[in-house]
Amino acid sequence: CIAASSIKGIYGVSYKIYDEKMRQKTLDEQFIISNMKRALKNGQFKVHFQPKYSLKTERIVSAEALVRWEDPDRGLIFPGDFISLFERNGFITDLDIYVWDTCCKRIRQWLDDGNKIVPVSVNVSRTDIYDPNLDKILLSLIRKYDLSPEYLGLEITESAYTHDSDQLIGAIWKLKRLGFTIEMDDFGTGYSSLNMLAELPIDVLKLDIRFMQSQHHKNSRNILSFIVSLAKLMDLTIVAEGTETIEQVELLRNLNCDVAQGFYFARPMEIKAFEDLLRKQAETYSADDETVEEIT
Ligand code: C2E
Ligand code: MG
Ligand code: MG
Ligand code: MG
Repeated sequence: CIAASSIKGIYGVSYKIYDEKMRQKTLDEQFIISNMKRALKNGQFKVHFQPKYSLKTERIVSAEALVRWEDPDRGLIFPGDFISLFERNGFITDLDIYVWDTCCKRIRQWLDDGNKIVPVSVNVSRTDIYDPNLDKILLSLIRKYDLSPEYLGLEITESAYTHDSDQLIGAIWKLKRLGFTIEMDDFGTGYSSLNMLAELPIDVLKLDIRFMQSQHHKNSRNILSFIVSLAKLMDLTIVAEGTETIEQVELLRNLNCDVAQGFYFARPMEIKAFEDLLRKQAETYSADDETVEEIT
């Protein structure tokens, strides 16, 4: 009898916690849904850039654009809290077009200023991929800013491929033919990975963060090594996401992996900070180059 009531007590408590979490989640969702349009109009969505580094030269070779919502009361809200909601209610298209436009505008500015420029990769949601106008939208953006499509990488998450339809394959081929760089994001998390590698015109494989997190298992290391070799055979560039430690960097170097992105090198940052970093790098290396010239 005592046992039964204490069990009931335990369940009672956990139900209460569960209810509280659910209530908070609903409140958050309500906040997001009723404020998203105004936030976009008022410029509260900010695009941050995270550098990607060559593992050979340790120089920045490109950037990934990652969106954040800066609410005056709530502070920074991260994509994990709103992207899937926006995919369900359709707002993702408006938000993504805003992010892509912001990136294209920035690249145009770099070109006009005569600065060193690196390509920028944007995330393309699985919802966008099924939009029959996606190619026209992206084409009109690069025309608007008079850019070559090779400056824009399109990161398409692997889970988008699980729908496995002709429509999806057709859409990606269209983007590839327009000259965009096609990047398979979160590679290794779905079950269609290898099929999709055969059927899609992919340029870049982005290894999912979970790969780097499981490298203390010998099997995971073998799988990583296999994927990197396969990518080399297929002439794909490998980007290791979520690189956080020097041990991971060394492992990736030993495997001959091309590019790394992660907190070890740099976190996502405001575009201005990214530009400062690029500028500093250009100065450092041009100083190096001069020294080399003097010596030789
Ligand atoms: P993703 O495209 O795979 O982006 C990488 C995520 O890993 C980013 O999270 C980044 O901040 C995080 N990250 C980078 N380096 C490290 C590291 O060393 N350790 C760890 N633990 N994490 C690292 P973020 O910015 O929170 O974005 C989460 C996801 O939201 C993205 O995953 C992407 O799928 C989606 N997302 C972000 N921005 C956009 C956007 O503008 N449009 C769309 N459709 N999706 C977006
Ligand atoms: Mg991405
Ligand atoms: Mg992703
Ligand atoms: Mg990813």
